[in-house]
Amino acid sequence: MRQFQAESKRLLELMIHSIYTHREIFLRELISNASDAMDKLYYHSLQDGGTGLSRDDFKITIELDKDARTLTIEDNGCGMTEDDLENHLGVIAHSGSLHFKEKIEQGEDVDVIGQFGVGFYSSFMVADKVTVITKAYGSGQAYRWESSGSEGYTIDPCEKEGHGTRITLHIKPNTEEDNYDEFLNDYQVQDLVKKYSDYIRYPILMDLEKTRMKEGTHEKPEFETYREKTVINSMVPIWKKQKNELTAEDYNRFYQEKFHDFQDPLRVIHSSTEGSSTYYALLFIPAKAPADYYSRDYEPGLQLYASGVLIMEKCHDLLPDYFSFVRGLVDSQDLSLNISREMLQHDRQLQLIRTRLEKKVKSELLSMLEHDREKYDQFFQVFGLQLKFGVYSNFGMHKEALQDLLLFYSSTEKKLVSLKEYVGRMKEEQKYIYYACGDSVSRIEMLPQTELLRDKGMEMLYLTDDVDEFALRVMLSYEGKEFRNVASDNLELETEEEKQSAKEKAEQNKELLEFLTQSLDGKVKEVSLSQRLKSHPVCLSSDGEISLEMEKVLNAMPHATEKVKAQRVLEINMNHPILQKLQSLYETDRDALKTYADLLYSQALLIEGISLEDPVSFSNQICELMTKA
Ligand code: ADP
Repeated sequence: MRQFQAESKRLLELMIHSIYTHREIFLRELISNASDAMDKLYYHSLQDGGTGLSRDDFKITIELDKDARTLTIEDNGCGMTEDDLENHLGVIAHSGSLHFKEKIEQGEDVDVIGQFGVGFYSSFMVADKVTVITKAYGSGQAYRWESSGSEGYTIDPCEKEGHGTRITLHIKPNTEEDNYDEFLNDYQVQDLVKKYSDYIRYPILMDLEKTRMKEGTHEKPEFETYREKTVINSMVPIWKKQKNELTAEDYNRFYQEKFHDFQDPLRVIHSSTEGSSTYYALLFIPAKAPADYYSRDYEPGLQLYASGVLIMEKCHDLLPDYFSFVRGLVDSQDLSLNISREMLQHDRQLQLIRTRLEKKVKSELLSMLEHDREKYDQFFQVFGLQLKFGVYSNFGMHKEALQDLLLFYSSTEKKLVSLKEYVGRMKEEQKYIYYACGDSVSRIEMLPQTELLRDKGMEMLYLTDDVDEFALRVMLSYEGKEFRNVASDNLELETEEEKQSAKEKAEQNKELLEFLTQSLDGKVKEVSLSQRLKSHPVCLSSDGEISLEMEKVLNAMPHATEKVKAQRVLEINMNHPILQKLQSLYETDRDALKTYADLLYSQALLIEGISLEDPVSFSNQICELMTKA
């Protein structure tokens, strides 16, 4: 008995006792080895033409024997010499396995298929004995390698017709926890091949049971079963086909099957490139967000293939976070099958692909926005929030990339509009892009602060998502136009005349306003006279960086420790009869005036959708007034 190298022995032990839930990937590994072995020989024959073999001569066969509990996979590739067996199957040759071993030893969750090219040894996750019979191309002697685990292995000469490798796995008996029978079941194995190795370029054959009508029984059909060697992989992946070979239906079917969605995607992005990096990408924009999309549980990522072999189910590094709704796959010829997740992150090819994919997704979205607005609106309703988070996060690093993809509800158009559209319609004298915040469009419409702008026919963007105002604040401006909240104190909408008369009125009421400010006792920074209010008596506005809406959002965050407070200004409509009432109370009854100040402030809070600290006292004050009247 020959001994495994120490590292290999340890890895084998880990495999044997593995609780790794994706044991099934052993099949992918063996098929991919077989495919490589055929590639090697094929390449060789292309080089010197000596082998006389053509591509069509190569195949992989899978045989199952339920009684003997064996799964056999055979190829007619390059095969292995005695030395190859010793050096390749007795030693951990590649970093993928080592990596896997390290991670498992550190007790990490390695529940990601293909994160590591775990290689040939993965057979020991499902088999208690593995027999390899192989004959190298051009050699007269075949060899049998056999091992029942970490104690060691044997290599002996044997007979084998033709070159290639035949690997037999003696599938483990079932235990209470684990059932290995699926690896002996035709249909389950067929499914595994389809799932992981569908696109291997050589045919994968299995002897499958089929049913046909017995001959001569057309009148009264009788059926019989028979077995037939069947190619179970499609060999050419859809993403490698020409676009004009494919219909919308082909794409949709593929999408639904592959990504378990029962709706067609909103958009299909199929691209391939050659040059500095060679890859194919087939991406989809779903019509609906998965239920967990906006939660921490959502795991983004595209499937990553290396030359047709699936190496990672969810590769995060192919698209930026703000495009995490995109589903699909990338197939690159420049990546090694054994590349680990850590290595991937630094892989230059991958970076290149990422840059291109990002551009591609963006340009597709823009084209949707321009040419298929209805669909874009539908998209934005579902995933717009993610784009807005994208603008806001990382201190606005991506605002430029994303700003043209944003839509907001317009007060004048009564539908979602882009910033470009807004700016294109701005009035000549209009300095700012105005927006108003609230829980819903109808609530915002009722805000007193929106009245003046509506009167002047100015378009406002209605922001209804928490993140909206933060996103605009991070952007600061669009095409040189600053954003301005209609609730901020300076909208620069008054004419010189109006400004002058406001100034005079403020001067005349100076003492009254000071009294009101004081009686509100720190609740507001200032009480001022306003001419932006038309029919409403009061409103709240904010002075400074934090708006009332931002205050609400920030304080509602789960980890908000210190409450933030916007600097509030209570604005009183200077053309409203309430002002006269206040003026007369200032002369006659200052106690009542204090109550009025409280009441006005409470009303302004309610209009803003901010709850009152003491609703009971508010109610009592009103009742008192009612009984007085
Ligand atoms: P990897 O394929 O990542 O190198 P494996 O542990 O799967 O690692 O395989 C180790 C080596 O054994 C391969 O590199 C190859 O040289 C050899 N090998 C495995 N399977 C076959 C096969 N079916 N035919 C020829 N050589 C093989």
